[in-house]
Amino acid sequence: MLDLHLHSSCSDGSDSPEELVALAAAARSASGEALTTIALTDHDTLEGLERAGAAAEAAGLGFLRGCEVSALFEGQSVHLLCYFVPEGPSPLEALLGGLRQDRANRNLELIAKLHAGGIEVSTEALLAKAGSPEGLGRPHFAEVLVELGHASSIQDAFDRFLADGGPFYVSKAHLAPRAVAEAAHQSGAVCVVAHPLRNMGWTGSVLEQKLTTLRTEGIDGVEVYYGSWSPEQITEVGHLAERLGMVATGGSDYHGSKKPDLSIGTGRGALMVPDQLLEALEAARPAR
Ligand code: AMP
Ligand code: ZN
Ligand code: FE
Ligand code: FE
Repeated sequence: MLDLHLHSSCSDGSDSPEELVALAAAARSASGEALTTIALTDHDTLEGLERAGAAAEAAGLGFLRGCEVSALFEGQSVHLLCYFVPEGPSPLEALLGGLRQDRANRNLELIAKLHAGGIEVSTEALLAKAGSPEGLGRPHFAEVLVELGHASSIQDAFDRFLADGGPFYVSKAHLAPRAVAEAAHQSGAVCVVAHPLRNMGWTGSVLEQKLTTLRTEGIDGVEVYYGSWSPEQITEVGHLAERLGMVATGGSDYHGSKKPDLSIGTGRGALMVPDQLLEALEAARPAR
């Protein structure tokens, strides 16, 4: 079985790339199947790929170099998974660098906006939560706001301060799916829309229309297998992907203790991403 959607502590997961690979090597499906190939897909960074790749090789696991990038599509945030990201400089690496710079600027603006509102959030407190400046995001601001007594919970901090459109919201850059797909293709990578049913609320004819448009924007495939979906949902998305000629991928979206209900390989328990998907994904690789 495969797990092509994993996060390490290089973005917002809790396990180091090496710990992640060790867990992957030990994972078993309900029927006792082991993982054959995994992909590391941290948000906006390629930082963990070398370490995870080396650990996977040592453990005898296949490894795909990946990442997960957020884009704005028809007014909604969509997550795009890129696979076969090359080593060294590439258009995709440059695009991720721009996103990280934009995030850093946003974080500074958010600190200033909170300060103007009489709320002092220090960089030190934020970094203590985030571990690294690259991974710093609104969830860490929320943790600090709770710690300082300005909010009663993470959700309360979002609801009253940080949510999109909220009083302290500072927007980040909005990439179009086409821009991500083009950078991926110019880098020899394949670009797939992640968990198209989750938080977007797409079903039935809306899902079909969204995926059709994303395909015309250059998106090559769809995450068909996802830890929190029912077999019926997986079948629905799988049929749609097939009909639209989009490659199918799948994974757990494991984040370690940040999302404790998801396990590597098996998601919420029943996930089983078939090895056969890998062939079509490989075949979709663009020439560089
Ligand atoms: P950032 O990328 O730093 O803007 O943070 C985005 C993250 O904040 C998302 O991945 C969610 O985990 C979290 N988040 C965003 N909006 C909300 C919300 N309204 N309620 C709870 N968590 C949210
Ligand atoms: Zn994440
Ligand atoms: Fe995602
Ligand atoms: Fe993810």
